[in-house]
Amino acid sequence: MEIKCLTVGPIGTNCYLLCDEQAKACAVIDPGGDGPRVCDAVRACGCDPCAILLTHGHYDHTGAVADLREAWPQLPVYLSHKDVYADAYARQLFPPIPGAVDLGEGDSVTVGGLTVTVLATPGHSKGSVTFRCGGVLFCGDTLFAGSCGRTDFVGGSMEEMMASLRRLGALEGDLQVLPGHMEPSTLERERRTNPFLLQAMGGAR
Ligand SMILES: [Zn+2]
Repeated sequence: MEIKCLTVGPIGTNCYLLCDEQAKACAVIDPGGDGPRVCDAVRACGCDPCAILLTHGHYDHTGAVADLREAWPQLPVYLSHKDVYADAYARQLFPPIPGAVDLGEGDSVTVGGLTVTVLATPGHSKGSVTFRCGGVLFCGDTLFAGSCGRTDFVGGSMEEMMASLRRLGALEGDLQVLPGHMEPSTLERERRTNPFLLQAMGGAR
């Protein structure tokens, strides 16, 4: 398993390429912008893309989906349909992703020999998910290094965010935390130092 990170788009979204080098297959997680650069990175990694995985539907995480699907027309894209909106106001933040396959709690997606499992972690948006692959968590805008995602957008909920953080914090082991913005971290470090995670876990540590 190899992971490459590209920071893309005007507000610096982390797009990850999750590669199974042996199977020569990869998934693109949160291609948020800079389509040509993301496509070039996929070609350069030497793997065939087999899925686009979206941690949530915000435009800054989905902006390069159309470029990827122009380059690879059969590429499936996975997004919780809880982040699909019909009204024009919400669609400014959650642009429609035609043909997106719904996914949610307990689902899994195969990437070569890798299995990516889905944890529903609402709070930043109704359809926010965390992808887990082995010891790595792709947290989107749920858990950040030292912080957590905003809850004041459409579909956001501080109560749900706290429950999601509690859930992530309760996962066993020192997992790698790869967030949707800013620098990576580890779950152990966040459990010790992240004020939101500490609050969510009841300050019991
Ligand atoms: Zn977001």
